[in-house]
Amino acid sequence: MPARIIDGKAVAARVRAEVAEQVSELHERTGRAPGLATVLVGDDPGSAIYVANKRKASEEVGMRDYHHHLPADAAQEDVEAVIAACNADPDVSGILLQLPVPDGLDGPSLTAQIAPEKDVDGLTPISGGRLLQGSPGLRPATPLGVLELLDSEGVALEGAEAVVVGRSNLVGKPVSLLLLERNATVTLCHSRTRNLPAVCVRGDVLVVAVGSPGLIGAEHVKPGAVVIDVGINRTPDGLRGDVEFEGAAQRASAITPVPGGVGPMTIAMLLRNTLAAAELQAAALTARR
Ligand code: NAD
Repeated sequence: MPARIIDGKAVAARVRAEVAEQVSELHERTGRAPGLATVLVGDDPGSAIYVANKRKASEEVGMRDYHHHLPADAAQEDVEAVIAACNADPDVSGILLQLPVPDGLDGPSLTAQIAPEKDVDGLTPISGGRLLQGSPGLRPATPLGVLELLDSEGVALEGAEAVVVGRSNLVGKPVSLLLLERNATVTLCHSRTRNLPAVCVRGDVLVVAVGSPGLIGAEHVKPGAVVIDVGINRTPDGLRGDVEFEGAAQRASAITPVPGGVGPMTIAMLLRNTLAAAELQAAALTARR
């Protein structure tokens, strides 16, 4: 039987509606709506669209928008000064530095300067360390979106075999750690993994984040598995995932499409992170009074 298609657009819309309600409640309670600061350096059209979408989404849920656009030839110190100002501004709950930054700037070093309590992308070394240690902190948005989709399907993760393909700091590693936190038995595959189909086919849950269109086919999928395709690849046939959808859908019990699967979840989870950051900052302020 063909797989159920997991509707990321619907799950993302539900998360955004919940966030909007909670933003309004926080605003009423504290007199302050959460604020999201976006930092865009240079004029890359793709990055500009991503930032515009995030700003629009944050305004739609009632958050305040603080946008900083620096020229492509901005010096490292210029970007550092903007991040420092956002760190110090009590109206800014979350900071998003759009990556990649132009050549000549040190992206990882800039990211590391974001205050951990405002790190709504969850990409600073401190947030990464907290995730590794299982202590509270902000987690990266796309991996959170993967977990939200699995939860929306009611997938029982405890004790399940979860196979993740791709080991980036942005997706693969944090997804693996989040699955481990939920007591799945996790196998993390990468470009040097031997006999990938034999490893993948063990997964009750298979998460793929590689960036290689159609890499994963039916032979990688355990019958009845839940398949989450994080890949977004621009091909002559349009946007495609890392999973060869038609074949995999014949074996899986549920599968995300591309587009319309994980993609819409990233902004939704970024908004949820910004709300969580604002709640924690409001609680810290109350505790100091
Ligand atoms: P990356 O290039 O940083 O990492 C790719 C990973 O895939 C590496 O760890 C590498 O070891 C592994 N890999 C490469 N070839 C492989 C092979 N043949 N077999 C097994 N593993 C292999 O990529 P990334 O930033 O993690 O992004 C992965 C994909 O997810 C991309 O298509 C990207 O566009 C997409 N993505 C989507 C979202 C979203 O939906 N919002 C967010 C982030 C990334």
